[in-house]
Amino acid sequence: MAGLLSKGSIVTTLTDLLTPGAKALHPYQPGKPVSDLAREMGLDPASIVKLASNENPLGPSPMALAAMQDVGSLSRYPDGGGFELRQTLAEQLEVEAAQITLGNGSSDLLDFVTRIFVQPGDNIVVSEHAFSLYGLNATAVSAEVREAPAKNFGHDLDAMAAQVDERTRLVFITNPNNPTGTWLSEAEIRGFLAQLPAHVITILDEAYFEFVDEAEYPNGVRLLADFPRLLVTRTFSKAYGLAALRVGFGVSSSEMAALLNRVRPPFNVNAPAQAAAVAAVKDQAHVQRSITANRLGMKQLIGAFEQLGLDYLPSVGNFICVRLQNAVEINQALLRRGVIVRALGGYGMPEYLRVSIGTEAENKRFIDMLTEVLQQGEAV
Ligand SMILES: *Cc1c(COP(=O)(O)O)cnc(C)c1O
Repeated sequence: MAGLLSKGSIVTTLTDLLTPGAKALHPYQPGKPVSDLAREMGLDPASIVKLASNENPLGPSPMALAAMQDVGSLSRYPDGGGFELRQTLAEQLEVEAAQITLGNGSSDLLDFVTRIFVQPGDNIVVSEHAFSLYGLNATAVSAEVREAPAKNFGHDLDAMAAQVDERTRLVFITNPNNPTGTWLSEAEIRGFLAQLPAHVITILDEAYFEFVDEAEYPNGVRLLADFPRLLVTRTFSKAYGLAALRVGFGVSSSEMAALLNRVRPPFNVNAPAQAAAVAAVKDQAHVQRSITANRLGMKQLIGAFEQLGLDYLPSVGNFICVRLQNAVEINQALLRRGVIVRALGGYGMPEYLRVSIGTEAENKRFIDMLTEVLQQGEAV
């Protein structure tokens, strides 16, 4: 020790101490919070419309809110095993509770699976225009991120398969995809999984599963019987309207779940979140109301885009991408009017804005402000 110290240190900054992976990282950019915009623009928070993070505009089930209030003492740690929530999900999904891994949001699962299977020099395969968190996690562990070009803004599974080699550990499929709203059929996904070598694990991210109403759209959980090297992720942040509580989960073989649990922090899902999630699963009527509202809101936005002569990407999610020549400037003009949507430069789509489906009134406000910006030519 004395010898080491006497040599002196060549480290000058904290950044020098970062791992190679962390050196290459930039923090994830979330949708702008209402409170930030209110501060920056001197606006009344109540006047701001946020359609930027694909949240449920109806909010959570009233039963979830009631259950959350009723958790008992906050001085006690939550159930670290999440027994009741895993049991409830197991019944709903017709799997064993041992196949379910709880996460502080499904983002947690994306992190766990990367940490246990990917090491420096390995690679992961993602699609162009996919959720940035997959690559962020892999970069953090000094792995290579291989991005396959998209086809019509959706995943090109042949292009993704072509990227797989002996160092590939994970492949990420988002179905439907965020931000493009594209989706893959059961036949397409089965065909892809059947050709993957055994050293590759596929993550099927189904954050928007509940919204899809297409006959050929698969339930990933049903694929586990045929494809054991699969991890399906779902969340309470979107259709269930519980984004603030941070609850998500993975469904996999019980073998994979046990491995994921090796890196899961012991109390990663808090007690109010567990209680609310259990009640939310039991209130499927609220989920149905949310899905119906989403369908109507989607129609409302599409109708407006068509009237304004704007191109959009047909979406099966609770969000839609609209094409605008000056998307960056229009986004700024919308922010000045208290409307928050998502610019997609970071997703390789600089000409698009992603708009989450809001309530009828929120959608109308967005449409009115967009119309005003386009008519005034302010952003052109
Ligand atoms: C919103 C989203 C998630 C879920 O995030 P949580 O951590 O569960 O809130 C996962 N994947 C995609 C593609 C998403 O859009």
